[in-house]
Amino acid sequence: MSKHIFQTEVNQLLDLMIHSLYSNKEIFLRELISNASDALEKLQYLTHTDDSYKYLSYTPRINVILDKEERKIIVTDNGIGMNEAELTDNLGTIARSGTKGFLNNMVGDKKKDSALIGQFGVGFYSAFMVAKEIHVSSMKALEQNTHLWKSDGKGEYEISTSDAPQEEFGTRISVFLKDDAEEFLEHYRIKEIIRRYSDHIPFPIFLHYKQKEYDKDHKETGETQKEEQVNKASALWRLSKSAIKDEEYKEFYKSLSHDSDDPLLWVHTKIEGGLEYTTLFYFPKKAPFDLYRADYRSGVKLYVKRVFITDDDKELLPTYLRFVRGIIDSEDLPLNVSREVLQQNKILANIKSASTKKILSEIENIANDEESYKSFYKEYGRVLKEGLYGDFENRERLMELMRFPSSTNEELVSFKTYKARMQEGQKAIYYILMQSGQSIHESPLLERFKKKNIEVLYFNEEIDTIVMPSVHEYQGVKLYAIDSKEADEEFADEKVSADEEKRFEGLISTFKESLSEKVEDVRLSKKMVDSPVCIVYSDSSNIALKNLMRQMGQTAQIPESKPILEINPDHSIFTKLLLADDDTRIREYALLLFEEALLLENGSLADAGDFVKRINKVLERSV
Ligand code: ADP
Repeated sequence: MSKHIFQTEVNQLLDLMIHSLYSNKEIFLRELISNASDALEKLQYLTHTDDSYKYLSYTPRINVILDKEERKIIVTDNGIGMNEAELTDNLGTIARSGTKGFLNNMVGDKKKDSALIGQFGVGFYSAFMVAKEIHVSSMKALEQNTHLWKSDGKGEYEISTSDAPQEEFGTRISVFLKDDAEEFLEHYRIKEIIRRYSDHIPFPIFLHYKQKEYDKDHKETGETQKEEQVNKASALWRLSKSAIKDEEYKEFYKSLSHDSDDPLLWVHTKIEGGLEYTTLFYFPKKAPFDLYRADYRSGVKLYVKRVFITDDDKELLPTYLRFVRGIIDSEDLPLNVSREVLQQNKILANIKSASTKKILSEIENIANDEESYKSFYKEYGRVLKEGLYGDFENRERLMELMRFPSSTNEELVSFKTYKARMQEGQKAIYYILMQSGQSIHESPLLERFKKKNIEVLYFNEEIDTIVMPSVHEYQGVKLYAIDSKEADEEFADEKVSADEEKRFEGLISTFKESLSEKVEDVRLSKKMVDSPVCIVYSDSSNIALKNLMRQMGQTAQIPESKPILEINPDHSIFTKLLLADDDTRIREYALLLFEEALLLENGSLADAGDFVKRINKVLERSV
């Protein structure tokens, strides 16, 4: 016998569950049955694909046994089973860093945490909501030993070789119920729970319980052992739509996704003639918690003729649709299709492409009502943007689904709306690419656009800086950044004159001396109306590259491109500075103006102290 302690995150999860999910304890059974069903599917897959499992004979089934004397409920399956190492790995740790990160981000606010945990599969550990103690006995298929895992959920578990070896491979989970969980010994209660959550698990679930017998005077005469199949065991997606109630769709979604909330919507499609397949896709109401984690879990399961193939293929749909949950069941793929070659499979590529179009048209339907699209976009707008980068086939459709804040509107706008209200003669769609947290409304770069009433889109999410520079056009109209050369053409009538260049020559060279290493250049520009100065970069699309590197944690290698200080020759500060003759002061003003521009651009200053000292000096002089 060996003793082990749970990984920290397991303890966190256990604690959270007991405090946050207590109002919905019954879901523990759904979780255990869903694990049993996964184990059966895994073994079934191996019997189709792996020669060593070919002659294994078994009839897949799940048993739920109620034992009133010992106050325990037992869930058994004859699936793949676990050996000693797997028991430790699977029931003592949380492997995926995504889940770990999620747990570490919990704020300790019970209300918020319980809303979060709904989106995240609680799994096996949820049984500790109702259990004083849990015993897991398991024998791996094709192996000989039975191992026993035991824990009371209080920080430790132990593993031993079982002195009651199993006759058949598979797993047997005994849940010793807490005093306040007695309801789960009642067969009618358990039937209700199984039918609600697990009716369409593709394997039969048998309930075993004892029923008391009475004579005609209501005197107890004994007990009979009952065994009955409780669920329909029909794959829901294979039934015809008209035979499925909304409630059934919803519960199936919950058992598939572990989400405790109803789905936003579902699309059930059966394709015949040519390729034959069925798809059932769901949109969760809230974005899955691991949507932006590298080790996110795929939400779509692949079946071939109702036989489970994989739930771990991230290419069944394009990655920007990774929030979709559901099932693809093909008639045409060979049953023994190996997971490794799925990627190159033409049939699957075909299904993927058609499914993508189907899902996009469902999103377009939501977008027909801007009000409901708002909440959808809040959850999924960011991930859809990734599609602009990767899915060229559907780029036009995705473009229509984008929404951005803009300089003239409180509401998010689409490219379509933007285009419809462009000014007469306006040459392009303009956008400002921003660092996150930047205060756009004050950007001096916007001033000339405001003056001419030209709307500017705010590309203000991190993903925008990566994806949007690859988008050059919307329906024949070019897209330009407001600080690009191309944008200057919109303002061709406002060029810096030769006369201005000449008058400012001296001042600019003093500015350059003062700022020297800090800037790439100092020059005149007509970009501003009200502001004296602004900052631009010679290659603004670099922002994207830098953000990408920052995201990947390569801060050291980020090339530092120096800012260019642009000066508004029409601003009264400069008309006055032209007349000044104290070079020391001009240098000081140069620094101040530069820092001011940096502040507007970044929202913060590296040397705030110096800046304040300089301001104070100027104040002292002017008071
Ligand atoms: P999840 O099912 O979300 O992965 P769980 O905590 O419920 O998380 O289970 C952890 C792992 O334990 C599963 O991924 C599976 O490998 C294993 N496991 C759980 N129950 C069984 C079972 N009945 N048979 C075989 N393996 C199981």
